[in-house]
Amino acid sequence: MEAKKEVVNVNPKAIIHQRFGDKAHYNIEEIQEFSSNGCPGLVIPQKGPCLYRCCLQLPDLSVVSDVFKRKKDAMHNAAEKALEKLSDPPVKNPSDQLVSRLSYLFSNEFYAICHPLSGHFRASLHREGDLNGFVPVSIMPFYDSKISNLCKSIKPEVELKPLDVTSIIMEASARLSDTVFCSKELLSLKRVTPYPPEVLQLVEVSCEKGTHVKVIRVPYMVDKSVDSLTLDVSSNKYYMDAIAQQLGVPDASRVLLSRGIGKASSETRLYFCAPKSHELDVISGNESYDLFHEDVSSCTYYRLLLNKVPRGIYKLSREAIFAAELPLKFGTRSNWRGMFPRDILSTFCRQHHLPEPVFSNTTTAKTTPGSEESFKSEVKIFSKDRNLIFHCYPQESYKKQSDAIQHSSLKVLSWLNDFLNTDGDTINGNKGDLVFYPEHISKDLLVQIKGNYEKMLGFDGGNQDKMLEYRIEGVESEITPSNGCLVCVGYCVWLVSGEEREIIEKNEEFEFELGSEAVIPDLEAVVGGMSVGQSGCFRTELPPRELIFAANGDSERISVLLSSGNCSLEYTTTLLRVTEPLEDRMEKALFNPSLSKQRVQYAVQQIKDSSATFLVDFGCGSGSLLDSLLDYPTSLERIIGVDISVKALARAAKTLHSKLSNNSSVPIKSSCIKSALLLDGSITTFDSRLYGCDIGTCLEVIEHMSEDQATLFGHIVLSSFLPKLLIVSTPNYEYNVILQKSTPQSQEEEEDKNPTKPCKFRNFDHKFEWTREQFQVWASEIAKKHNYGVEFSGVGGVEGVEPGFASQIAVFKRVCELPEGGELKDVPYDVVWDWRRSNE
Ligand code: SAH
Ligand code: MG
Repeated sequence: MEAKKEVVNVNPKAIIHQRFGDKAHYNIEEIQEFSSNGCPGLVIPQKGPCLYRCCLQLPDLSVVSDVFKRKKDAMHNAAEKALEKLSDPPVKNPSDQLVSRLSYLFSNEFYAICHPLSGHFRASLHREGDLNGFVPVSIMPFYDSKISNLCKSIKPEVELKPLDVTSIIMEASARLSDTVFCSKELLSLKRVTPYPPEVLQLVEVSCEKGTHVKVIRVPYMVDKSVDSLTLDVSSNKYYMDAIAQQLGVPDASRVLLSRGIGKASSETRLYFCAPKSHELDVISGNESYDLFHEDVSSCTYYRLLLNKVPRGIYKLSREAIFAAELPLKFGTRSNWRGMFPRDILSTFCRQHHLPEPVFSNTTTAKTTPGSEESFKSEVKIFSKDRNLIFHCYPQESYKKQSDAIQHSSLKVLSWLNDFLNTDGDTINGNKGDLVFYPEHISKDLLVQIKGNYEKMLGFDGGNQDKMLEYRIEGVESEITPSNGCLVCVGYCVWLVSGEEREIIEKNEEFEFELGSEAVIPDLEAVVGGMSVGQSGCFRTELPPRELIFAANGDSERISVLLSSGNCSLEYTTTLLRVTEPLEDRMEKALFNPSLSKQRVQYAVQQIKDSSATFLVDFGCGSGSLLDSLLDYPTSLERIIGVDISVKALARAAKTLHSKLSNNSSVPIKSSCIKSALLLDGSITTFDSRLYGCDIGTCLEVIEHMSEDQATLFGHIVLSSFLPKLLIVSTPNYEYNVILQKSTPQSQEEEEDKNPTKPCKFRNFDHKFEWTREQFQVWASEIAKKHNYGVEFSGVGGVEGVEPGFASQIAVFKRVCELPEGGELKDVPYDVVWDWRRSNE
C-alpha cells in the first residue's frame, strides 16, 4: 500500500502553504492495518504495523489522504489531492452556464473587447428604427463557440436541428429579464438599459462610409448562374441587414448562416433566408475593422468547390479528388499524404447523394502458428434505391483491416479517375477487380459525375503525357529551387486569341512548396526550371468557360474573345524568391553543427578509418557531400557522383569545377583528388564505372524513392556495385515528434487538425520515412542476403536515448573479396561532367 512518488517536481505542501498559510490544517490519524487470514469474506483482525492517514482542512475544502507507513507521505498525499481538487473548476449545469454567458455578452466589458460577436453588438446600435440595439439570436452560436457548445450540451440534437438553438437561447435569456430584453417577433435580444456613455466611448466606431465587399449570389436552381453583388458594409450600418435586404426578408433575424465553408483558413459563409429559401448567398466574414468580412468573388467560390483555399492552392496534395495522381496501391497510413481514400470516397458518395460505401472484410486465418493474419476488403456502392453501382474486390491482402479498406477505396477512386479521363460517354465497365453496373446509375448522375468533375478539374486535369512547351527568359542566377523548396512567384494568366489577349488572373506574390502538387503540373515544371529573377511562359488548352468567367469579372470582353474561337491560356510567371525546404531549414536551425554537416563528418571519419581512395556518392544531388569532402584532407583520389536529376548535377558540376580547377589561388588541401566524375542515371540500374569502390555513400536518398525501389537499390548495390563499405542514411521517423514540436509553423497547423494524426514527413518529396525498426529490417535483410555485415548508428541525438538519432545510418561492410570481373561493359549512365587533374 505504500505509494511513493518517483518524480516530484514541485512540493504540493509548499504550494498549499503559499496559498493558504496557517489556514491549512493537517490532522494525522493513526490506524491499524488488519490483515485477512486468507478466507475470502471473513476478516479476522490481526495487529499489523502502525499506519497513518492525513486529513487536510482548507477554508472551503477538506480532503483525506490514502494510508501510508509514514506521516510525511500521508500529508504529502493529502496536499496533492487538495491541489487536484482546487484546479478542477466547480461544475455548473450547462443551462446556468448559458445564462451567465449571455449575461456576460450583454455586459459593459464585452462591448468593448475584440471578439467576433462584439462587433455585431456594436453594429446593432446603428440599426434603424425599432431594430436599434437588437442582436439576432441566429448569429450567436456562430460567432461564440461557448454559446454553441453549451447549446449542444443542453440539447445534443441541435447538431441536426440548428433552428432549435434559437429557442434554447431565447429560453435562457428569459431568465435574465432584468438585463436582457427578448423579442419573440424579432428573434433578437437587446439590453434593457442602454450602454453608459463612457462604455460607448471606449470603442470608436469609425463611420467609414463606402466600405463595400464583393459577394456572390448562388441560385438555388442549378440552371441559373452565379452572380456577383456588392454589399455596403460601412460600419454605420449592420451588414446582416444588408444581406437580409438582398435575400428579400424583413430583417437580419430571418437570415440563417452556415458554418465557415471551404478550408479552415477561410471564413466564408453561406447566408440564406429562414424557412422559404430559394436562394443561397455567399458572403464572408474575416478580419477587418470591426465586423469581420472579406471579398468573395465567384472565383473564390469555384476554388472552394474545388476544395482549394480561396487563394487558389490545395492545402493537402491529394485533397482534390481527381486532381492529384493516385497511386495504384495503398501502402500504409503513415506513408499516405492528404485525405485518406476512404474519406475521399465517402465525400464523393455524399456529394452525389449516394448512401455511404459498404465495406466487407475477409480474414485469412493463421494457417501455421507463426504466420500472421491478413485482411482483404470489398467495397460496394449503392444507388439511392439500393441498387448496386460498384463492386470492387481487390486481391491484395493487408496485415491491417483498416489498410485493406483504404486500398479498396483507392481502387474505386482510381476507376473513377480513369473514367473521368476518357473521352465521350463510353463507359468502360469492368476493370480488373471492379464491376460497374451502369444500368443502376441514373443518366443524370453520370452526367453529373462527369460534367461536374471535368468542370472542377479545369486547370488541374492537364494531360500528363503531353510534353509541355515553355520558354524561360532572363539571366540565370545562382538560386534555383529544388523539390521541397518554398517558392514565391508572381504570375499572370492571359486569355489569348490570335493577336488579342486579356488578363484573367493575376497575383503578384504567390507561394507554394515545389513538388507538392499544390499547383498545376505545368507551373511546377516551369518554375522548377527557373532560377530567381527569371521569367517563364507557357500555354495550356482552354479550361471550361465557367472557370474563366469565375476568374475574371469583366466577362463581356472575355465573351468576345471566347466567341472568336481558337483561344488558349498563356501563363507568364517570374520567380521571386526561394526558401529552402522545411527539412533543410530544420536541419540547420535545430542542430549544431547542422545535420548535413554531421553526416559529412561521419562520412569523413569512415573514409579516414578505411583509408579509402575511391568514393561513389549514390544520389549525390547538388554535390554537397562531394564538395564538403574536398575541404578535408583525406586519402581520396577518385570521386564519382550519380543522380537522376540533371539539374542538380549541373549545380554539382559548377561548384566542384570551381573548387577543383581553382589552380590560381592556394591549392586545396585535398590535392590527392585525381579525377571526379558526375553521372546522370538511376542508382537502381547497374553501371560498371561504379563497380567495387572503397566506399559508397547514399545519404538521405532512399526515402526519395518508393519503398520497392529502395529495396531494389539495396539488392543491386550489394550484389552488383559491391562497395567495400556502404553508408546509407535516412530520416528516423520516430524523431519527427521532436522536430515538429520545435517548429512554430507546424504547431499552428496542428491545431486545426486531428491531434492523433501521424506526424508529417520532413520533406514533400519523401515517399516514406522509416522507424528504426523498419530501417533495420530493410538493412539486415539485404545485408544477410548478399553477405555483408551491417551496423547501425546515426547523427543528431544521442546513442541509446529515445527516440534515437535524427538521421539514422547503416554501415554495410563487404565480407568477401571482390570477385574478378568488373569490365566496362554496362555503361548506361550519361556523363555530365568529367574532370581529371592535369599533370603539369
Ligand atoms: N545525397 C544528397 C542529396 C539528397 S536529396 C545530400 O545528402 O544532400 C535526394 C537525391 O536523390 C535527389 O537529388 C534525387 O534526385 C536523388 N534520387 C532519387 N531517386 C534516385 C535514383 N533512383 N537514382 C539516383 N538518384 C536518385
Ligand atoms: Mg530527404
